[in-house]
Amino acid sequence: MQIPFHKPYITNNEIEAAVETIKNGWLTMGHKTFEFEKSFASYTDCKFSIALNSCTAALHFALLCNNLKPGDKVIIPVNTFVATAEVICYLNAIPVFCDIEKDTHNIDVSKIEGLIDKDVKGIIAVHYSGQPCDMDEIIEIANKYKLFLIEDAAHAFPSEYKGQKIGSISDYTAFSFYATKTIAAGEGGCLNVKESDASDKLKHLRLHGISKDAWKRYTNEGTWKYDVVDLGYKYNPNDIAMAIAKEQLDKTYDLLEMRKKISDCYDEAFDESPYFEIYNIKKDRKSSYHLYPLKINIESITISRDIFIEELKIAGVNTSVHFIPLNKFSYYKNFVISQDFPNSEYVYNRQISLPIWPGMKENEINYVIKTVLSIAEKYKR
Ligand SMILES: *Cc1c(COP(=O)(O)O)cnc(C)c1O
Repeated sequence: MQIPFHKPYITNNEIEAAVETIKNGWLTMGHKTFEFEKSFASYTDCKFSIALNSCTAALHFALLCNNLKPGDKVIIPVNTFVATAEVICYLNAIPVFCDIEKDTHNIDVSKIEGLIDKDVKGIIAVHYSGQPCDMDEIIEIANKYKLFLIEDAAHAFPSEYKGQKIGSISDYTAFSFYATKTIAAGEGGCLNVKESDASDKLKHLRLHGISKDAWKRYTNEGTWKYDVVDLGYKYNPNDIAMAIAKEQLDKTYDLLEMRKKISDCYDEAFDESPYFEIYNIKKDRKSSYHLYPLKINIESITISRDIFIEELKIAGVNTSVHFIPLNKFSYYKNFVISQDFPNSEYVYNRQISLPIWPGMKENEINYVIKTVLSIAEKYKR
């Protein structure tokens, strides 16, 4: 049996929505995008959702809105996707890596204050696997030192922290609709903002900084004449992707339930096993279950995590690792690193992300479980 690491949940709704958009002839940003934005804002209890072509663009925009300057520093978890760090470098600012918690793999709040100096201007909190970070404590630190706070919620739709939707808490929250994320449009992203000024500004920045968007320019409402009022970017989404995203959005809670069910099956199977440590979700928050991160007790078996992954692959179970910590990359190991990362090291040596995609059948879930357990048994110490 072959189990892919991920497979998007595409039904006739998504296919028909994409085909209809192609047939109607408006392929770039237009009505489908605006419809999606309205709906996404409502799902996340936020006033303004600005659709973009990626979450990376959304993070870049969030930093621009906070006036990040060359030489400024921004604190981020060391265990995240490289996009969280690269956007800081786009602005010639400096990412400062912070260790994570062993159990949630989120930023370790107790280690943030030790990293703050006069150049630190902000924090990007990343909600690992869809589990929200300790937001109250992070907000307290941000307020105390007057730092901006941005949420990288690429994994965290739909997630909740103490009854609040992720996307409604901070001034800027970035989401991803990349092919493997919980809403899969192929490519796409979104920035939730609270102020109408920021929303208006970003709506022209995403399309070259021109004063009227193409949608208006090319309808009867528009004219050929426009002004460029700012240095703009080419960060707009296209309506084909947004039409797919809207169909996925309409299934949000069905997709969530399917992922949660798979997570429950895995938890039940691995909780009692001496070879594994299951992932802990804190009681006061709700995850999107974007990933299923399992940790191997490497002391209890004779093979490394890397070999474990190879064995799984041979048996047809495709997995991944989230993430290779940023301090291990050639480009990023030259950045200021002012603390050790014992917890990130601990997680990196043990962690495997198992397949958790809506539509996985019971026999596929059971095959993953059986395979994981039998490899551990085969190589037990
Ligand atoms: C996927 C991901 C991103 C980037 O999303 P794109 O839409 O591909 O730009 C950013 N941060 C994290 C944590 C991610 O997993």
